[in-house]
Amino acid sequence: AEPILRVGELVKHYGAGRGNVVHAVDGVSLSIGPGEVLGLVGESGSGKSTVGKCILRLTEPTSGTVSLVGRDITHLSRRALRPLRRDVHIVFQDPYSSLNPRFTIGQIVAEPLRRHRIARGGEAARQVTAMLERVGLGAETLSRFPHELSGGQRQRVSLARALILEPKLVVADEPVSALDVSVQASVLNLITDLQRDMGFSCLFITHDLSVVEFLADRIAVMYLGRIVETGPTAEIFAAPRHPYTQALLSAAPVPDPVKQRRRRRVVLSGEVPSPLDPPPGCRFHTRCPVAVDRCRTEVPELRDLRLGDHPVACHLVTTDHVPDATATATAG
Ligand code: SF4
Ligand code: MG
Repeated sequence: AEPILRVGELVKHYGAGRGNVVHAVDGVSLSIGPGEVLGLVGESGSGKSTVGKCILRLTEPTSGTVSLVGRDITHLSRRALRPLRRDVHIVFQDPYSSLNPRFTIGQIVAEPLRRHRIARGGEAARQVTAMLERVGLGAETLSRFPHELSGGQRQRVSLARALILEPKLVVADEPVSALDVSVQASVLNLITDLQRDMGFSCLFITHDLSVVEFLADRIAVMYLGRIVETGPTAEIFAAPRHPYTQALLSAAPVPDPVKQRRRRRVVLSGEVPSPLDPPPGCRFHTRCPVAVDRCRTEVPELRDLRLGDHPVACHLVTTDHVPDATATATAG
């Protein structure tokens, strides 16, 4: 089937004054099939949110292409984009600042119906009530204002607004990370249920790999503007190939105390380098526990290596060898 989203060699550089250039995204390619969930994972500054914004044209890519359902939208005018906005919605991290405080929940969720002239009056009210119910909110919510709701309820409202037009693609940018830990799981479960029910494709952006373990079909790991590894979720979790992914996974909490004891934690040295001046060669070489000389000069391409649908950008990964960054760590 034709992908719902295809991103080709996306680059986003922007000026930061005095001739400085931020290399936010540097050649990212990905695609998402119908009903598929891709988890885009990386630390802050990795460029993952910029990818999401370029897909929605909330920011203009420097180069590269974005296609929705086979249509290249990279150079479409705002006006030509408008009907396509029916098909793609974003859910932001902060459910408070993304909801207009002066509107009622009923008005907020009805807004896409009005804007796209799909329904109004009683018919709009009926659809809004039904959608609120699907996200677990009662009809009494209709007349409330955002500040009267909890963070979890507000994020449910954001979901209702994003889904009311039954979009083909939802871009979810850290939708649970601003919420209390106690409500994160319930909102994640809701997103999972809605995705399975409604069948939309989803780009789920997160800094936390464990968040997408049960939601994403595939994972793409970003580091300093590039995808370093991508593959089926189960494979990434069972056998991460890139030293950075191995480090991320080693840091994730393991619910099983026995496993926790056996797990070797890789503590990466230093901070993520500035995207103003990314390191040459492999961008991860300044922190990679298994880096070799060529890593400092040669850029590793994202290569498939006939290892299935699981390409990796690391000089040390070959058809019969995968480096083990955790071997350098101490147990504990
Ligand atoms: Fe580490 Fe070199 Fe592989 Fe980069 S290419 S992840 S520096 S071993
Ligand atoms: Mg699915």
